[in-house]
Amino acid sequence: MLKSYGYAAYNSQTPLRSYHFDRRDPGPGDVLIEILYCGVCHSDIHQARNEWKGTSYPIVPGHEIIGRVVQVGGKVTAFQEGDLAGVGCMVDACGTCPECRDHQEQYCDQTVFTYNSPDPHTGKMTYGGYSNQIVVDQRFVLRISDSLDLAAVAPLLCAGITTYSPLRHWNIGQGHKVGIVGLGGLGHMGVKFAHAFGAHVVLFTTSPNKVEDGLRLGADEVVISTDPDQMQQHPQSFDFILNTVAAPHDLDQYLTLLKRDGTLCLIGVPDSPHPTPSVGNLIFRRRTLAGSLIGGIRETQEMLDFCAQHNIVSDIELIPIQAINTAYERMLKSDVKYRFVIDMSTLQA
Ligand code: NAP
Ligand code: ZN
Repeated sequence: MLKSYGYAAYNSQTPLRSYHFDRRDPGPGDVLIEILYCGVCHSDIHQARNEWKGTSYPIVPGHEIIGRVVQVGGKVTAFQEGDLAGVGCMVDACGTCPECRDHQEQYCDQTVFTYNSPDPHTGKMTYGGYSNQIVVDQRFVLRISDSLDLAAVAPLLCAGITTYSPLRHWNIGQGHKVGIVGLGGLGHMGVKFAHAFGAHVVLFTTSPNKVEDGLRLGADEVVISTDPDQMQQHPQSFDFILNTVAAPHDLDQYLTLLKRDGTLCLIGVPDSPHPTPSVGNLIFRRRTLAGSLIGGIRETQEMLDFCAQHNIVSDIELIPIQAINTAYERMLKSDVKYRFVIDMSTLQA
């Protein structure tokens, strides 16, 4: 086994702190990655605090991983020592079910998530990227261009693909009016991608101090969602609204902004249900309420290549690992610009 270390939550209430644990020795198809940067996703908070239930402690969060390959197994063909590498929310899946065959591994029944997921290799739980190193099957390792700021690329592995995938699935592009709800880690990537795909982008935010940033990041208009007058300026006009909010809220206020056949896609995962949307708001204009989970490995590579080509990265605040608990508190106050990324060189054994 490989002696490894990182930061873990030991229970749902106390701050994360240092943790030592074992990782498997790299097998023939595995890549050993020294972790350089790891983004901080709101899902890390949900799970560190057991808000979705089912957390097994100690939990080492982190699924926006950028690192360097330090060892490869004998059957690894896609990577060699010294290469940059990325790991997102998944580290394995069955490989044979219809979802996997369709390159949608995130919808496989046996997806192994990067942390807090039963690990078929060890019989324990998986441990994520708030750590010095990780061993991953080469099929779940992404190629990373060296042309961009690596710390700012890390959030693409979750926030990036989670917004890219639904915008592509619903064929968003020129001529579409698209809403992005919430300007946090996911939301700011949603604004960037929707803008890059040529849509007219309207940002909905609860934070008046984010208006200028919203416009700079690519929104054509910004609506303060807590202001009823502003919310009435766009009736029945949206083709698609991507909702990233991590708390339960009234969905009807967004459904009613959709035109006929428009779609409200939920990607935020609150710990308790949203109030049920009104059926009337769905049937009278044949609107769709949908959801989307991250994206497949092939599409994640496509997204990373798109970002390298178009010079798209996340707007980040780089933090030492010792600041992780403060970062969580700030995210919970919507005070994030717009993704915290851990500089893993600050992690000590
Ligand atoms: P984040 O950085 O904390 O951003 C969430 C944003 O939502 C906040 O910055 C805030 O933006 C807005 N917001 C927060 N509380 C709100 C409230 N009570 N009412 C209205 N708006 C509120 O979080 P994130 O990392 O982007 O993650 C967002 C959610 O997506 C989380 O639930 C996470 O678990 C989930 N997620 C889902 C997937 C997936 O595959 N579907 C993948 C990753 C994450 P404003 O200040 O602009 O209002
Ligand atoms: Zn995430």
